[in-house]
Amino acid sequence: MSRTAAPKANPEALLREGVSMNRTIGRQDEAALALGAKAAVSRAAVAKGGGLASRRLWIGVLVVALALAPMVAGNFTVSLLNDIGIGALVALGLVLLTGIGGATSFGQAAFVGIAAYASAWLTTTQGMSPWIGLVFALALTGLSALAIGLLTLRLGGHFLPLSTIAWGLSIAMLFGNVDALGRHTGLSNIPPLSIAGASLADPRAIYYLIWVIVGLAFLFSSNLLQSRPGRAIRSLRGGSILLASVGEDAYRVRLSLFVTAALYAGLAGWLYAHMNRFVSPSPFDVRASIEYLLMAVAGGLGQLAGALVGAALVLVMKNALQDVLPLLTQRAGQLEAVAFATLFILLLHFARGGLMGFVRRFTRGRFAAPTREASGPVEPLPHRTLPERGTPILSVNGVVKRFGGLVAVNEVSFDVNAGEILGLIGPNGAGKSTMFNLLTCTLPMTAGQVRFLGHDIAGMPQRKVARLGLARTFQHVKLRPHMTLLDNVALGAHSRTGSGLLKAGLRLDRVEEQQILQEAQRQLDRIGLGDRAHELAGSLPLGTQRILEIARALAADPVLLVLDEPAAGLRRKEKMALGDLLRKLREEGVTILIVEHDMDFVMKLVDRLVVMNFGSKLVEGVPAAVRADERVQAAYLGSVV
Ligand code: ADP
Ligand code: MG
Repeated sequence: MSRTAAPKANPEALLREGVSMNRTIGRQDEAALALGAKAAVSRAAVAKGGGLASRRLWIGVLVVALALAPMVAGNFTVSLLNDIGIGALVALGLVLLTGIGGATSFGQAAFVGIAAYASAWLTTTQGMSPWIGLVFALALTGLSALAIGLLTLRLGGHFLPLSTIAWGLSIAMLFGNVDALGRHTGLSNIPPLSIAGASLADPRAIYYLIWVIVGLAFLFSSNLLQSRPGRAIRSLRGGSILLASVGEDAYRVRLSLFVTAALYAGLAGWLYAHMNRFVSPSPFDVRASIEYLLMAVAGGLGQLAGALVGAALVLVMKNALQDVLPLLTQRAGQLEAVAFATLFILLLHFARGGLMGFVRRFTRGRFAAPTREASGPVEPLPHRTLPERGTPILSVNGVVKRFGGLVAVNEVSFDVNAGEILGLIGPNGAGKSTMFNLLTCTLPMTAGQVRFLGHDIAGMPQRKVARLGLARTFQHVKLRPHMTLLDNVALGAHSRTGSGLLKAGLRLDRVEEQQILQEAQRQLDRIGLGDRAHELAGSLPLGTQRILEIARALAADPVLLVLDEPAAGLRRKEKMALGDLLRKLREEGVTILIVEHDMDFVMKLVDRLVVMNFGSKLVEGVPAAVRADERVQAAYLGSVV
């Protein structure tokens, strides 16, 4: 979708506008590539007060600049700005999908094409209004994305991006081979848009519609990212087990994100068709998709404003190349591709955070992301009624797990009673981690039965067990380093609340969001990190990260807390702090099952112990009795502890 006229736009001004956009919307700290978390801590801390004011100021400046632009700029600049707006819409979807959600798409132009052709076909051959075309275009794009997503989003590793190339190619090919769509000649005489009888045929008229839509899309995305579904999206890179542990299905989150990104592309396609009033297959092929991806990467995949900056950068550069290259050679078209490939490679080498990565480093704390404003206390989230102290809440019965010929867990049975801390210990290789995975339904068991609060949980998906009230932590900490402590803990309350994408994007989730943040803050206070709520989780030492994971688990209002080797890798002082916290939680009525390797740590902490060795239960009892047991001593002495 390029224009051929010369670049009379002032690229610097464009970039400045883009930059200010970031300062305003640049909440996205998921730029895992861009910045060291430590450097960002101060920014996050500074952000609370000054951030919001400067954010509003910059949004104001940007809006005024964009509103005035068509009055002072020439025809060419206005057309270029229109293209940039449309490109930014597609790139915005990619920033969300690829930059934040971690799923790379090389086929986004196909969605632009589906919408463009849908509206073009409906308005030219059926004589319908472009506004009906919009509904049709979005419906078709959304359904196509849903179908493609259902088929491909479970693919792991490189297969997902590869599959996007496949459908990207085939959809573009389809446009060129269907008679009703005019084959390679395309569809022309598409009617222009009009609002209340006023035609938007003039680029200066449609300009305002484009930029209002771009503005709304940014607002929607920014709202979304600071919400319940947004936290799930930002946690996608943490893996499906992390999301399952807070009761969410990563596949569903990815699917809804994929459809959202496609709908942004669809909006862009509809605008494109009625602005150019002509569609043909080539602007929707894989090359165009790569250009959109380049926009997102060049701007900075980690933050929303990257979409705008990237679209401006790529389109301004492209126009400049189209002016300059023909002066140098007759093969300008090919050289353009080479120039873009070079830019891509340079970016990947030297500026993975994109242009916005530089800007963020440059501006430091001054424009860092504010969290939503607190609106005063709200009704707390509802609590579960906890079972009476002493009643069994988890019953493990004759559980067996085989890995091929190896019996990792062999006929193990025990109960966990409400209000106690039970330790599951044993030397290396005893089968503790395997047992842990069976209890949390991360692994399917070979035989046996596990009942949690009366439910048979064998074979249940992990997220369902989590929703029943079993919260876990991870031996290898799974925090989102570029999210604040508050956001990390808020993720834990995911299953207690229900706002979806649309509600969050439109900010109809205000009360619930306040409830979540209030709950997260309460849990942070409970573990003693309340005054660091706005720091980034990645900046914490390991011991504190472990404790933060416990707060996230607590935010789920669990009946049972299961901890996987929480003391591993901790220094003595950190272990003591952890022990104190767990004892305090027990006093408050939390039931804890702790899987641990470190004997000394557990002995001082738990009410009862289950000792495993070679997959079987060796003994069960109070710490003193277990410590005195010869079999336990032999098991520990016989292994490298
Ligand atoms: P622990 O946590 O007590 O150190 P694990 O539960 O990790 O012990 O391992 C118990 C046994 O099961 C070990 O012999 C280990 O090699 C084996 N094991 C664990 N996970 C797997 C797996 N995914 N595939 C095959 N063997 C496994
Ligand atoms: Mg282990």
